[in-house]
This record gives sequence, C-alpha cells and structure tokens, in this order.
Amino acid sequence: MSILVTGGAGYIGSITVDQLITQGQDIVVIDNLSTGHREAVNENARLYEGDLRDAEFMDNVFGKETIEAVIHVAAFSIVPESMKDPLKYFNNNDTGFVTLLETMNHHDVRQIVFSSTAAVYGEPVHIPITEADPKIPTNPYGESKLLMEKMARWADEAYGIRFVALRYFNVAGAKPDGSIGEDHHPETHLLPIILQVATGKREKLQIFGDDYDTEDGTNVRDYVHVMDLAAAHILAAKYLQNGGKSDAFNLGSATGFSNLQLLQAARQVTGQAIPSEMAPRRPGDPSTLIAASDKAREVLGWKPVFDDVTKTIETAWTWTQSHPNGYQE
Ligand code: UDP
Repeated sequence: MSILVTGGAGYIGSITVDQLITQGQDIVVIDNLSTGHREAVNENARLYEGDLRDAEFMDNVFGKETIEAVIHVAAFSIVPESMKDPLKYFNNNDTGFVTLLETMNHHDVRQIVFSSTAAVYGEPVHIPITEADPKIPTNPYGESKLLMEKMARWADEAYGIRFVALRYFNVAGAKPDGSIGEDHHPETHLLPIILQVATGKREKLQIFGDDYDTEDGTNVRDYVHVMDLAAAHILAAKYLQNGGKSDAFNLGSATGFSNLQLLQAARQVTGQAIPSEMAPRRPGDPSTLIAASDKAREVLGWKPVFDDVTKTIETAWTWTQSHPNGYQE
C-alpha cells in the first residue's frame, strides 16, 4: 500500500516525501512540475507528471497504484498573485481538489491530509488565532483554501472521506543538510528574499508597509519550520489511519516575528548587512497572524523541534548558500 503525495516536487511536498521514505513508506508523487522540481523528489518515490484537473490521468494513476491515503499539498499559494488573478487560484486549487476527491471516491480511498492556510482567517479577531475563530479571507488564495475545507466537509458527510486540513502559518527553513529547500520563480516570500539579498543576488529588501497596528509598524507573522510542518502531515495521516475524525489544525509556533525582527535575526545569522527600504503595503496582507497550535500538539501529538526562528533561518541559509540558483545548479 502506498501514500500519494500530490505536489511532492514542491517545497513542502518534497520534504514530506523525503521524511516518509526515511520512515520506510512506499510513496507515489503526482506533480505537474509547474512550480515543483523533479530534482527535489526523493529518488525512491514514483513520480507521475500530470495535472490534478486531468480526470483521466488521475484515474490512471489510482488504477495503477494501490493508494491507501493521500497527502495533498499541490496548490498555488502566493497571496499577491491571487489578488491579481483570483480565477487562476480557484481553477487550480479548487477544481483540482474536486477531481482529486472524485478520483479518491471512485477508487475507494477515504483518507486525505491537505494543506490549508492561516489566510482562511483574514484579519484575526484575537491573537493567537484558534481553529474555531471566524474565517473571512482577505485574499483569493485564502478563499480558495477555505472552499477546499468546505468541500472536504461535505465529501466526508456524503462519501465518508475523512480529512485533516492543516492551516499553515509562515513556512520557512530547509532540510538541515541543505539538500532540499525553497526554490520559487519568481520568489515572493520574505525569508528567501532576505537571504537572496544576503548572498548579493538581490540588491535590497523592500519591506511592504510600516504603518500597521503592530509594535514596529511592520506585519507580524508566525514562522514554522518546514521539517516540523512535514512531520505534522505524517502525524495527521497516522491520526486518520487510526480512525481519527475529520478536523482542521493550525500549524505555527505561537510566537510572532515582525518583518523587521526577521530581517534583524537574518542579519545576525548571516553576518551580512542586508540593505532594506520601506515600501507601500502589499494588498491582501493581514496585519498580524499568530497561531495557537495547542490542538495539533494535543490531538496529533505534534512536537516541533525547530522551535526558534534562528534555527529556521540557519537551515534556510545553509540551503541558500549551497544552492544560490535553486535546483538549477
Ligand atoms: N514581505 C515584504 N517584502 C517582501 C516579501 C514579503 O515585506 O519582499 C512581507 C509581506 O508583506 C508579509 C510578510 O513579509 O508581511 C510575509 O510575506 P510572505 O509572502 O513571505 O508570506 P505570506 O504571509 O504572504 O504567506
């Protein structure tokens, strides 16, 4: 029996696949390689290149393999891009999810762990954010993920497909040996951009907004290490395997870092000046996002190991220095 990881060539998927294989699991990967990298996929996984929205392709993979559970992390996930092109997000993230659930139902696969996001909450009503808080996304990316959660709920009700939705806060870091990490084109995320400035690949960092209602005026985010995040997917799959009921969990560190604080910490880790300037707000950005993650700890038994942002920056720096051009070495 195999576990299917969709998006297994992407940043989070490739590290999840790597951990699953280390644990002796048989892994099938589906990825259309639109943003993922073939080189990121562990050589012991079977990679099928194709699109989730292609029902015939999906049916073929599920027919050929014996899949017992799905970890679904294939998605578009860039907030500013989703503001400019919302339908691209609904098409890929939501249509792809419908096809995936239909295929699972058809092939009698009834367990799925999938990526959701802190962006489902929009502007929080209080900090830290708990799972039961109101969900009013401020951007189409968050809306596309909230829709997925709703579809999953009804798919459970109708077809008995149990799910775990993992609401990621800000994912960062790399495999500590520097062999797997973040490689987006174009890069839009804060930490990789900061580190590109540190290597001299970019001239300076622009900080989007210093007039938010936060201590230093810049946005506050909750950083979770990608290794801990990957481990949470595996725990969630085990939870479903043991009969756990459908549910959603925040994954964060419960500690907030402002954009300026993250920059300062990166200056210390890298020993580089990392020039920066203030720039206008980026549309769709909530002011502060910090997770309460007690539920994942209590119910899934999740114990983050990289519990301080310096360790996260260190691993990302190891990856950036050894892969200045990502996987295209
Ligand atoms: N950000 C920034 N400059 C950049 C990229 C990001 O100031 O070049 C800010 C962004 O406005 C947000 C924070 O960094 O406040 C985290 O953004 P990112 O895109 O990394 O993740 P998101 O929170 O959107 O998932």
